[in-house]
Amino acid sequence: MIRKTPERCAMNELASRHRVVIVGGGAGGLELATRLGDTLGRRGKADVTLIDKGRTHVWKPKLHEIASGSMDLSAHEVNYLAQAHWHHFRFRLGEMTALDRERREVRVAPFLDAEGQQVTPDRVFGYDTLVLALGSLSNDFGTPGVAVHALKLESKADAERFHARMVDACIRAHAQTTPLRADQLRVAIIGAGATGVELAAELHRTTREVVAYGLDRVDADKDIHVSVIEAADRVLPALPARLSKATEALLQKLGVVVYTSAKVDEVLGRGVRLADGRTLPAELVVWAAGVKAPDFLKDIAGLETNRSNQLAVRPTLQTTRDDAIYAIGDCSACAWPEANGGKGGIVPPRAQAAHQQAMHVAGQIRRRLVGKAQKDWRYRDFGSLVSLGEFSTVGNMMGGLIGGSLMIEGLFARLMYMSLYKMHELALHGAAKVSLDTLARMITRRTEPHVKLH
Ligand SMILES: Cc1cc2nc3c(=O)[nH]c(=O)nc-3n(C[C@H](O)[C@H](O)[C@H](O)COP(=O)(O)OP(=O)(O)OC[C@H]3O[C@@H](n4cnc5c(N)ncnc54)[C@H](O)[C@@H]3O)c2cc1C
Repeated sequence: MIRKTPERCAMNELASRHRVVIVGGGAGGLELATRLGDTLGRRGKADVTLIDKGRTHVWKPKLHEIASGSMDLSAHEVNYLAQAHWHHFRFRLGEMTALDRERREVRVAPFLDAEGQQVTPDRVFGYDTLVLALGSLSNDFGTPGVAVHALKLESKADAERFHARMVDACIRAHAQTTPLRADQLRVAIIGAGATGVELAAELHRTTREVVAYGLDRVDADKDIHVSVIEAADRVLPALPARLSKATEALLQKLGVVVYTSAKVDEVLGRGVRLADGRTLPAELVVWAAGVKAPDFLKDIAGLETNRSNQLAVRPTLQTTRDDAIYAIGDCSACAWPEANGGKGGIVPPRAQAAHQQAMHVAGQIRRRLVGKAQKDWRYRDFGSLVSLGEFSTVGNMMGGLIGGSLMIEGLFARLMYMSLYKMHELALHGAAKVSLDTLARMITRRTEPHVKLH
């Protein structure tokens, strides 16, 4: 007879607990892991595991601030292991590569450090409920030269790489004794969605601050050129035309050159070639257009995906072919009947959608555990806000809040923009920590340089 020692009881309890595995610790996944850890994990009702291919989390809408050097990363980066420790879930490092629906297992590739040394081996994680929250990547639609010559803004590493190259470009220009080449100190941003537009505005300010730190042989107004190239006939094509007009006027006032109805045919070593034959010289090219889910999700394990590799989900946020698998955020395709003036579409890839879905799926999983019926989720569009650095914030507020659509600008829009990030911080850390951190940031900002120089 096997005697029940306290350890064995604990192990049995652990083995019988419902296993929730969340893959992707971004805007949606990390909020969900934290919420489930604080509820089910803390009370021992479920084992919650978060898997991510990175060690730390940065809220993606902040990436353009890292790229331009205007953000103090240490104040905003969340370490997954520490977050897991404080919020009663497990964190496992590694990149998901495959899914076995029959065995209910997720496969994760070995993790190698910067020197190529293996940190974790090839692993398999069993689940009872799986949430895929893998986010999205930009989509270069196979445009020649993008993979080789263009920088992207998809991760913290991308943003830091861009920043280092931008500072080096200024230092190089300052140190050289020969005249500047035609492409030198020119930045071409391809895509005038929120990412491209926000980056252009931030760059205008931070490049000036970089040269102000003693690089006196560079004349910022004369030598530094930022351009935004957009295939559609206006900037911010997904937002109302009134907003595009206001934004374009602001960018032009800053000296940012805007090319609309301009399709990029090829990214070259020192510039871009447009479909109409024009070549625009540029030392740094950023690809900030298009959105698609990671390629390995395409038809993964027989799940339904669309042309952008996004997993089709029902209004319950369960995948169409498997009740045990949910998908949230940018990697999911959820119908939005009210989109396009009632014509219908899918929920846009936005932080506010990922946040709403994470909160809903936390409830769904609690219901699933006690055998209650799943509830439908409905997207509440609060509008879109675009930060143009310290110059302005523009946006529109929609639907539920005001019963229509209203264009907003200036301080009010800036406050609304900041509140989106505050909501994310609140979901991760709670009100007390967020209030104290905010206060500390307000105090220390006065003594720190405004722009990172390395
Ligand atoms: C520069 C930029 C600016 C933006 N600005 C705004 C804005 O102003 N407003 C707005 O609403 N939205 C904005 N967005 C969009 C917003 O960031 C996304 O909609 C949101 O982050 C989506 O959340 P998510 O949880 O789906 O994915 P993400 O936040 O992208 O997180 C995905 C996570 O999955 C991990 N991951 C990916 N693949 C794997 C794998 N195979 N294995 C393990 N882990 C993996 C990643 O490391 C990441 O941590 C912006 C996006 C960018 C890039």
